[in-house]
Amino acid sequence: MCGIYAVALASKNSKTSKDRAGQQVLDGLKRLEYRGYDSWGVAVEVDKKISLDKHIGKIGSVVSPQVPAAAVALGHTRWATHGGVTDINAHPHAASDGSFVLVQNGVMENYQEMKTELMAKGYTFISQTDTEVIVHLVEETRRLPLDKKKGLSFEAVCEAFCQLTGRNTIAVLTHAGNIYAVRDGSPLVVGKDKKGNFFLSSDVVSLAADASEYYALESREAIKIENGKAELFDVDRQVKLPLLFSDIDVDATKLDKNGFADFMLKEIYEQAEVLEKPLRQPKELLEAFMKKLKTARHVYTIGAGSADFVSTQISFFLRQKGIFATPIKAYESRSFQGVVGNQDICLVVSQSGETADTVEVIEWMKQKGVTIASIVNMPGSTISRLSDFPFMLQIGPEIGIASTKAVSSTMVWGKALAEMVAGKKIEMYQAEVRKYQSQLSNWLSHAHTTEQLKDIAVELAKMRDIFILGRGQLYMPTLESALKLKEISYLHAEGFSGGELKHGVIALIEKGTPVICLIAHDQERADMLSAAAEVKARGACVIGIAAQENELFDEWIAIPDNEQFVSISSFIPAQLLTYYIALEKGLDPDKPRNLAKSVTVK
Ligand code: GLU
Repeated sequence: MCGIYAVALASKNSKTSKDRAGQQVLDGLKRLEYRGYDSWGVAVEVDKKISLDKHIGKIGSVVSPQVPAAAVALGHTRWATHGGVTDINAHPHAASDGSFVLVQNGVMENYQEMKTELMAKGYTFISQTDTEVIVHLVEETRRLPLDKKKGLSFEAVCEAFCQLTGRNTIAVLTHAGNIYAVRDGSPLVVGKDKKGNFFLSSDVVSLAADASEYYALESREAIKIENGKAELFDVDRQVKLPLLFSDIDVDATKLDKNGFADFMLKEIYEQAEVLEKPLRQPKELLEAFMKKLKTARHVYTIGAGSADFVSTQISFFLRQKGIFATPIKAYESRSFQGVVGNQDICLVVSQSGETADTVEVIEWMKQKGVTIASIVNMPGSTISRLSDFPFMLQIGPEIGIASTKAVSSTMVWGKALAEMVAGKKIEMYQAEVRKYQSQLSNWLSHAHTTEQLKDIAVELAKMRDIFILGRGQLYMPTLESALKLKEISYLHAEGFSGGELKHGVIALIEKGTPVICLIAHDQERADMLSAAAEVKARGACVIGIAAQENELFDEWIAIPDNEQFVSISSFIPAQLLTYYIALEKGLDPDKPRNLAKSVTVK
């Protein structure tokens, strides 16, 4: 995961005290902090000397860090994989002679062997990171005798990079004020503004504040920023490639909280506006995809985490309309390698479009000739670029670590596919979604809803375990609700099919255990009400999430009365509950411990 941000101002050769590269990097890192926030660091080059500032903690909480005026700077916000969260392990990492600093996003899989070899050659290590191994490997690889004036060469960085295994993206700032970076796996985007200043970032959205154009590096491409010029290379063949920029089509202002206390709350409320946005797809792309979907031998859907639940729900919707669809968890996919083939189609779900586990599956599926379709929220992402049918969510950046609006809007999109398979016109479905949005908007703005959820949150915050039961179309919403409660309020919550209850889970129910029951007006209703009665008989406190009240409920959270979208309405209360529980426990809902938004390491 982690965020990388770099700035190379065109004024590099005539530096002024007003050069704000360091400050721009700090601001860029704040926008990237969703990618990792255990520690951060910034390096600037001034008069052929690099100065480095590294800290543990969140950069967002630093009010006004001081950085020297500089025209070139490189920064990193870390999500530790190797080595604890310490100032020393924070990036950038400096070369032994201070001639360059380096940041990494990813995991160097052969770091142990390389470290042993480098230690035998006399290199000493001060951190526990795999990153420092890359630093010494670059030192070892650089051309000797070292050109004192120019310092580290771009070629040496590329040569060292080619010795790394695993997926890594690195960026280097040299004491000559040059920036070199190579991408493999984790994303890297180069930006340019109208004044000829260059920027590097881990995503396009964060670049929007500084740059007007961007180019997203492909894996194994390298960028060299020297003397006010940026050039692109193939890292393996060392040949130059055309560097073609596209306009950045992101409204930078969308990155603020818009009056809400937290991004998570803002994004929960935005659901009432954005659900229909993914339905606005290029007509030809959608038509060609629908044709393929209806004629495929087999449809697979994949995702990881919440995206796995969404992908499973999409398979459910498709099966309901007669398409044989199988969901696969990205991290549990190897057993499918022998069965997929070139008449199959795989539908990929990922908010960031960069999820490493998912990218790996796409790569082997493509080798087997599987057609790839994807729905992602990040323009220019790896998954989009690997797809034959790339669809965009277009719901605006999702900054809160917990996925909320991306989950619901992807489900709306997946349901659209199923409806269209069954012959519904997209325009008609769009109108239905709009009607649902206004019901959701009323529900969200109802003071009673908020007050009730806040009161329940206060009680749930004291609990040890919470169980969530649902069946059929509401089974995935139980898993999604439980995941939200785990990741944001650190409560032990488990989602189960109502059917699983008697096969073991019921042993955990005791007096006062909170059991949330998701109930729709469908063919699962009677069985779900039985499940609610059975846990209630054993002393559970039953919290019903349903459009209709029932005497079995100790507490009833009324959701919008719209059966068509009940699978979405049923998990939105858990988004708000977990948010309010986090506040009750004094936690930061936007930055829960140990997590990061874009899971670019395996
Ligand atoms: N493996 C590196 C570390 O643990 C980089 C992790 C990241 O991508 O943030 O420091």
